[in-house]
Amino acid sequence: MFSLTPEAAESRLPVARRTLERLRQVPELAPRYRDSQDIRTLDDIAALPPLLKDDLNAALAHLRPRAENGATWLFQSGGSTGAPKLGHAPTGFYMAGVHAHWQPLDRDDVFVNAWGAGRMWGAHFLAAALADLSGCQVIALGSVTKDEYAEWLAFFAAREVTAIGGTPSVLGLWFARARAAGLELPDLRKVLWLGEAWQPQLEEDMAAVAPEARRWGMFGSTETWVVGTNTPHCPADTFHTLPHQLVHVGEDRLLDFTALDPEMLNPVLRYRTGDAGRLVECPCGRPGRALRVLGRRDSVVQVRGLGLHVDEVIARAERETGVSRAQVVISETGGRAGSVEVLLLTAPGATVDAERLRKELLTETFTLSTAFQHDPENFRVRPVADLIGNDRTGKTSGLVVLEER
Ligand SMILES: [Zn+2]
Repeated sequence: MFSLTPEAAESRLPVARRTLERLRQVPELAPRYRDSQDIRTLDDIAALPPLLKDDLNAALAHLRPRAENGATWLFQSGGSTGAPKLGHAPTGFYMAGVHAHWQPLDRDDVFVNAWGAGRMWGAHFLAAALADLSGCQVIALGSVTKDEYAEWLAFFAAREVTAIGGTPSVLGLWFARARAAGLELPDLRKVLWLGEAWQPQLEEDMAAVAPEARRWGMFGSTETWVVGTNTPHCPADTFHTLPHQLVHVGEDRLLDFTALDPEMLNPVLRYRTGDAGRLVECPCGRPGRALRVLGRRDSVVQVRGLGLHVDEVIARAERETGVSRAQVVISETGGRAGSVEVLLLTAPGATVDAERLRKELLTETFTLSTAFQHDPENFRVRPVADLIGNDRTGKTSGLVVLEER
């Protein structure tokens, strides 16, 4: 099933046809497209082999795309859960197409751009392009260190900041720290987010710090750029896809993406990010098919030859009273898991019985009890003050794999 009707997609199919021609020029990929039909209908797209991250990297290395107008920006994706890969974008980051359908900011807004800037991460610049189109006041903040929060929060209140944007992990830090310090942001109305799923703890802290604030989400990736957006009237996991982004729901609800924007530099044609989803009617009442994102399908990792469902372990730990977020950390030596740790970020003042949770996880999870049968001490559960974050992107992944020497 596709996010667009055949009628809505028809006039944009030449873009997909050109992408197929480009991919056929890539020596590593040419053989797999040899028997593919030319793209005349959506069904022809569904019949193509899916493109994975490594394929896209091979294609970009060969094609070296260039923007028609303005500069070609190079960004890096991955790094949280996989090896870094490159992605390209022209000046403007396709945000004019997003702004035409989604305007969370307006001229009267004072917007704090709290996505990390630099280090080849795209979100800060993409948000800056949106702010430019909105004509608002921009405070280009980027990431800050721990001891800077209080001072910046006071500055936001004094400047009557009305909007802030970042990854949910970074926003979570801002609101948790403001709440713990008893600070309020009475003028804040809009919280823009992109890069991770929305977090329930963030919702709670936001309500305490800025009761008038509402969330405005974007969904996408460094390869596809923004695929869909939502408003405070939509569920946090449901996004309205843009007309130049074709989303296909395939087997096992795996999503693949096809860019239908003629300016698109990355050859995105049935590109799979590992995300799963469904096409639904959004409760906000906006007509057309919306995309409900169900999380990633690649959350199963190998621990000593057995598959561990990381999302299930995290969900179990996060059901525990006092735990606001959990993270699984696997320490490997030469590709073998030496230990598995579940880190628990606890709510201020809460105490968690980590040892009881550890025993329960061990008994309930076949992979853990079997893998650590002879050395159960190498499976640990530990409350922490901070989870392990990615300094570059400000994301906090549910799974971290540490390579030990
Ligand atoms: Zn909606």
